[in-house]
Amino acid sequence: MFIDGNVAEASDGGRFDVLNPATGEVIASVADGTVADAISAVDAASRAAAPWAATPPRARAEILRRAFELMTERAEELARLISLENGKAMPDARGEVAYAAEFFRWYSEEAVRGAGSLTTAPSGANRILVQYQPVGVCVLVTPWNFPAAMATRKIGPALAAGCTMLLKPASDTPLTALAMAELLHEAGVPAGVVNVLPARRSGAVVSAMLHDPRVRKLSFTGSTEVGRLLLREAADQVVNTSMELGGNAPFVVFADADLDAAVEGAMVAKMRNAGEACTAANRFYVEAPVAEEFSRRLAERMSNLVVGPGTEETTQVGPLVNLEAVDKVDSLVRGAVSGGAKAIIGGERPDRAGFFYDPTVLVNVQPEAPILREEIFGPVAPIVVFDGEDDAVRLANDTEYGLVAYVYTGDLARGLRVSERIESGMIGLNRGLVSDPAAPFGGVKQSGLGREGGHEGMLDYLEAKYVAVSW
Ligand code: NAD
Repeated sequence: MFIDGNVAEASDGGRFDVLNPATGEVIASVADGTVADAISAVDAASRAAAPWAATPPRARAEILRRAFELMTERAEELARLISLENGKAMPDARGEVAYAAEFFRWYSEEAVRGAGSLTTAPSGANRILVQYQPVGVCVLVTPWNFPAAMATRKIGPALAAGCTMLLKPASDTPLTALAMAELLHEAGVPAGVVNVLPARRSGAVVSAMLHDPRVRKLSFTGSTEVGRLLLREAADQVVNTSMELGGNAPFVVFADADLDAAVEGAMVAKMRNAGEACTAANRFYVEAPVAEEFSRRLAERMSNLVVGPGTEETTQVGPLVNLEAVDKVDSLVRGAVSGGAKAIIGGERPDRAGFFYDPTVLVNVQPEAPILREEIFGPVAPIVVFDGEDDAVRLANDTEYGLVAYVYTGDLARGLRVSERIESGMIGLNRGLVSDPAAPFGGVKQSGLGREGGHEGMLDYLEAKYVAVSW
């Protein structure tokens, strides 16, 4: 663990293993944080809170800038660590490091752009002073699919805002978070400001933090199921919450789209991170006149990808994170096929060590198939044919999720019209990638609450203080 500026063992000496998903072998073991450790971490973060909040914004900005530079210098080493514990192919891991580091750079620039206002009350009787203050001690809970970026997307704005924090990384990928803690310490983050506590008993540890009255915020990225549970836990102490939850992104291709661009975008939206992204295209809706050609071209591109251990230089698609992930993908594909879908490529779990699944394209998928309702989190593209704009919008909105949608069309007016009608926090319009540190990332419906990234991302770590002033 990394608590109060020091590397520490768990209070009961417990440890747990971290596996390499490409081989299933143990690569390291880390301290398994306990409830007592969680309380020590809250003690440290709480002691550090006032001095950190009082640190000049410029000083906080320079520390963040240094963290960006250190990450950039160590990009290759960090990418390899991500690939080893998460499984992703090195090009994806390098992409993640660059994206993750950018949150430190962006928020180093935001740290000094303080907000606030002084206005005259409508009655003229007084002035209204609005000032933004750090929310306080934050609990940050992150998933395994982007072990660096999901952490920096929270740590960056929290540091810029003047908050202190306890990061609970996913148990499959604690090594990257621990490496980040050391890097931040080296960049000049004072002891106690960023604490990292891996814990297999995440329920008990996070619950203990959320019931400590010194904790003022929870920022969670993970599944909707766990998000719902934590919203209930956070209710007891009325803790501020930001929730980045699951997705079920539709990828809509109209007949007037540039098909080359649509296939290219589909490759990014589907295959980045082997499909293990909350933003992954989960359902493809293609207008009837181009459905066959789009399916054929996508299948051709996906079948040419090299599948293998993420750390091998030629690999384009790494293994999935663990055996349960492979079982889930396999059962969704089997369910779709038994309902009448046809796998034009893939559809089988490969007979090899490690947690692999072959890139798969399914056509003739039935509307009720669970593969269209649940997050696949794997390299599988189910394709459904639609007929006209209203049909596309109806199908896209037929989900309890609302994180991102992708729309390909050659008609900009239609693209903007459909973007307005689709219920999601983000739209990729003729683009298969939306993530950008300068933009507000987040979902509507059961995909979450709040935004990360952009100016909006910093507001999630600030509270407005209003002072009514007579003079
Ligand atoms: P998960 O919900 O299982 O776990 C997320 C984190 O919560 C992990 O750190 C885990 O240890 C912890 N956790 C699990 N149970 C807990 C409990 N009872 N109490 C407290 N903490 C608990 O999700 P995952 O499998 O790690 O990640 C995949 C999910 O994350 C997908 O649903 C994906 O869509 C989502 N995700 C969302 C975004 C986004 O920005 N919206 C980004 C990445 C991933």
